[in-house]
Amino acid sequence: MSRPIFAHIDRQALRHNLDIIRQRAPNSRIMGVVKANAYGHGLQAVLPALETADSLAVASMEEALQLRHLGWNKAILLLEGVFEASELNECIAQQLSVVVHQREQLQMLLAHQFSAPLQVFVKLNSGMNRLGLNPADYHASIQALRQVPMLSHLTQISHFATADEIHGVAEQMQVITPHFAAHPYPISLANSAAIFRHPDTHRQWVRPGIALYGASPFQGISAEDLQLKPVMTLHSRIIAIQTLQANQAVGYGQNWIANCTTRVGIVACGYADGYPRHAGTGTPILVENQRTHTLGRVSMDMLCVDLTGIPNAQIGSPVVLWGEGLPVEQVAQAAGTLNYELLCARAQRVPEQNT
Ligand SMILES: *Cc1c(COP(=O)(O)O)cnc(C)c1O
Repeated sequence: MSRPIFAHIDRQALRHNLDIIRQRAPNSRIMGVVKANAYGHGLQAVLPALETADSLAVASMEEALQLRHLGWNKAILLLEGVFEASELNECIAQQLSVVVHQREQLQMLLAHQFSAPLQVFVKLNSGMNRLGLNPADYHASIQALRQVPMLSHLTQISHFATADEIHGVAEQMQVITPHFAAHPYPISLANSAAIFRHPDTHRQWVRPGIALYGASPFQGISAEDLQLKPVMTLHSRIIAIQTLQANQAVGYGQNWIANCTTRVGIVACGYADGYPRHAGTGTPILVENQRTHTLGRVSMDMLCVDLTGIPNAQIGSPVVLWGEGLPVEQVAQAAGTLNYELLCARAQRVPEQNT
């Protein structure tokens, strides 16, 4: 018998979310972002539900090769491009597209002898100031690439820093619009937040990540408000029950102390499973489908829950850490982090159960 923790991956929910995204951006092709092992969901687990996406985006060659190994034969984009010239032959062999985002990378491409065409996404830094060619270098970079027949299949790409915030995308669009309008190539701008909030950014390709997985890109707007359904539900069980008397404490640091007799459930889930250690007493959790809260510190393999008001809870009672019935946003908020981080943090030792 293994530990009772598992991540249920609901492919039906993923298909639904893809449909919602398609309704929001009906004239764009969809590049599903599956970096970080599909935001912690598992590439293999999600792939069957992404069949109708037009392309997938990853952060590394390893992820791209895994997708090919799993049988994905449509386009794949390496979002950070290649890290050394030797990877370019692999890109040709596996038909991977690359981002080019800085001058050294551009030089690497221009110096390489290609045996077949490579699709290149030329990235403009429009204000995120993370990846992207300087606006001043942009036109010359496009000109250099278009003169090389093997590199002339171009797409223009940029990324927003505040598509999910009040600040919006207007300032970055002022940089993007004139630079991209000067060239006849397709454009890709929108992440999940921009797909929902900034239809003017949709263009030829949209790049949804978090929304595919049924989580909200916005603070203060729930996934349900966006008609999205959670794809990952993290399940475990009660493995022990303690009855604490007043003034007794539970867990490391003894930082939660009972003020009256309290039934405490011990759940097989800790920070080594990806549950946030910073989630303090009061973090919401479901036991026997009823909402309660955690008590004391999260430890490596376990956490503690208040069973007051759940008299039917017993050893083996099912627990939901987040997902269906408990939006991951609520747990993230209690832990002072984002839904993105919690989903990505799902540990290797937590097996997937796919339906
Ligand atoms: C991760 C990423 C996305 C997806 O962002 P979400 O907010 O998860 O939709 C899109 N584009 C790029 C370049 C990314 O790195």
